[in-house]
Amino acid sequence: MTSPESARLASPARESRESPNPELTAEALQRLFAALEPQSHRLMARFFARLFVHEPTMRGMFPLAMGALRAQVFDALVRVAQDWDDEEALAFRLGELALDHRKYGVTEQHYQAFFDNLTAMVAVFGASRWTPETQQVMTAALNHVRDVMTDAARRAQDQPAWWVADVIGHQRRRPDLAVLTLRVDGQTPLDYRPGQHVSISSPRVPRLWREYSIASAGPSRDELTLHVRAIPGGALSGTLVQHTEVGDTLIVGRARGAMTVDALTTGTVLAVAGGTGLAPIKSIVESLADAGASQPRPAVTVLLGARTEADLYDLAEMTELAQHSSFLQVVPVVDAGPDEVGQRRALPEAALRHLPPGACDVLVCGPAEMVRAVSRLAAEHCPLARLHADPLPPDNRPTPAARPADPGGHGCPIHR
Ligand SMILES: Cc1cc2nc3c(=O)[nH]c(=O)nc-3n(C[C@H](O)[C@H](O)[C@H](O)COP(=O)(O)OP(=O)(O)OC[C@H]3O[C@@H](n4cnc5c(N)ncnc54)[C@H](O)[C@@H]3O)c2cc1C
Repeated sequence: MTSPESARLASPARESRESPNPELTAEALQRLFAALEPQSHRLMARFFARLFVHEPTMRGMFPLAMGALRAQVFDALVRVAQDWDDEEALAFRLGELALDHRKYGVTEQHYQAFFDNLTAMVAVFGASRWTPETQQVMTAALNHVRDVMTDAARRAQDQPAWWVADVIGHQRRRPDLAVLTLRVDGQTPLDYRPGQHVSISSPRVPRLWREYSIASAGPSRDELTLHVRAIPGGALSGTLVQHTEVGDTLIVGRARGAMTVDALTTGTVLAVAGGTGLAPIKSIVESLADAGASQPRPAVTVLLGARTEADLYDLAEMTELAQHSSFLQVVPVVDAGPDEVGQRRALPEAALRHLPPGACDVLVCGPAEMVRAVSRLAAEHCPLARLHADPLPPDNRPTPAARPADPGGHGCPIHR
């Protein structure tokens, strides 16, 4: 049993958060990470090298190519510092990180090693900023992070950290795009809400995980459909599109994301999909169709954007769905090309034409610049619009009071 004394010693950060001047920690952390930012690349490279020398078994948790992951870890630290004075957001973010890290095989002992080595490297790179006060703040902050993450992971220990899935369908809809159907094994079902995304890993590219939106919400919930576009030079997407076939095995992480069917509250939905941004929208629409006409359902217009007609890889299925669903209208939008300042305007302009005058939910998913453009137009022209993008572009993020369940820990979805 934990004594009050050992509990106090185990979480010194809680003391610092309850100190009369809690901003000191937030401000000091933010200043420190802002100062480290210009050298973050070298700092993270040296940190991971040090970690793997001191903890050789931890090397096996990380992918061979570490470049993107190093940047993500620094970004996560900056976000923790930014959220530090918002206890609810911080606890949520750390809890999500902890649950997500279970799929790498992270256990309690790894946190301490990770943070000890991180502190040692920040001390080197912090140089003149590494004062005894900074050290105290950093140590307290990392202890708090460790405690919150450990608690969250412990609470989830009866849940699988990941699921094994068989590829039971693989359709090449375009040379660079495939629709994959997975059957998820396991006694505990993979629980998801239509509109969420999962992380996927392939034994062909060990220990590398990428997020993909679930595109289905059919009656067989252990079957997931994904729409994957191969990015030239991409580490995983090309493998999933070009080298994966029926019978292969993939690993699936837990579902996340706040742009779900439950977020819809009005009677009208405008859904704007660019490229594979259709996936979460299709999942939401399928779940509404499955709910049946006896349930109150919103009227949904889906704008299906692509660069050419041939790129509208799911138009036939979406049209068929609309033919059987009186609540659904599907409008293909082909973009003739960028304007004189290099912007693609077809989808935002179509969104403007279809924005209803009254209260409505606007779902938007696709390339970041399209998400930004549509979000801006919806905010300007339809004050009653409720915007859902997962995550929202930075200039449209909700205030803490209105923050959805997932404040967005993944950067902008990159659907094309
Ligand atoms: C929440 C979320 C949901 C997502 N859902 C889907 C989905 O349903 N379908 C889907 O296909 N993808 C989706 N993505 C993107 C996906 O997670 C990967 O980022 C993408 O497949 C590229 O992975 P990769 O390993 O092949 O490329 P990486 O090895 O990660 O990247 C290689 C290079 O390509 C660049 N790059 C990465 N993505 C793109 C892009 N889209 N366009 C241009 N350059 C790029 C990188 O910056 C890097 O320089 C989603 C991402 C997020 C965050």
